[in-house]
Amino acid sequence: MKKALLVAALSVCSAFSMANAETYKFGTEATFAPFEFTDDKSNVIGYDADIIRAIGEAESFEVQIVNMPFDALIPSILTKQLDGAIAGITISEERAKQVAFTDPYYKSGISAIIRRADKDKYQKITDLSKSRLCAQIGTTGANAAKEISGNVGTYNTVPEAFMELKAKGCEAVVNDRPVNLYFLATKKDDSYVEIPELVSGENYGIITNKKNTELLQKLNSGLKKIRENGTFQKIHQKWFNVAE
Ligand code: GLN
Repeated sequence: MKKALLVAALSVCSAFSMANAETYKFGTEATFAPFEFTDDKSNVIGYDADIIRAIGEAESFEVQIVNMPFDALIPSILTKQLDGAIAGITISEERAKQVAFTDPYYKSGISAIIRRADKDKYQKITDLSKSRLCAQIGTTGANAAKEISGNVGTYNTVPEAFMELKAKGCEAVVNDRPVNLYFLATKKDDSYVEIPELVSGENYGIITNKKNTELLQKLNSGLKKIRENGTFQKIHQKWFNVAE
């Protein structure tokens, strides 16, 4: 009898502590390796997934990751369907009018990938000024492509843009450089190359609703903690094979 009571009391306790840990829902677009992609069981994995889970651990909140189109992330935060988003999102003034950004957590930039056969034809980004370009919709890559040539086809995902490049529907994919390099390194066919020139430098931040200052503060505090306890560096090394 006594034992049964103890068991009952313990399970109430653990149910209580679980219910006590806040769960935050973060959106991402999981075809953006190595930042976010899926394993063979459809779990979201990658640099961003590791970062947000480590922050959750440091700040004692539960993390739920929801996969959705990139251009749905900000609208879903504005309508409170998501608490936040981590998706290799570049900090920009325009976006900062709508949502709040954490401190920067990754230095990125934009580059162009072309077909290897066109290597001599397109040696510099400006050589693409009259070409049709491919990019992911709603991204800074799409904005850069519009500045380069103005003739841009946009796709829901980066892999679709690469398929279009291969099918000769465009002459280059303009996209975040670390994702381009990961694509070149992991792709089995070598029919693509990068124009070795950076279009612009950018920083990634995690976004939240502007009204949710509590979550923003937890994210910044968690980022600081994981930098201090070495977790951040471990995650960087795991996905990029080099120190930050
Ligand atoms: N960094 C780019 C942007 O914020 C691309 C992000 C992405 O496609 N996930 O627009």
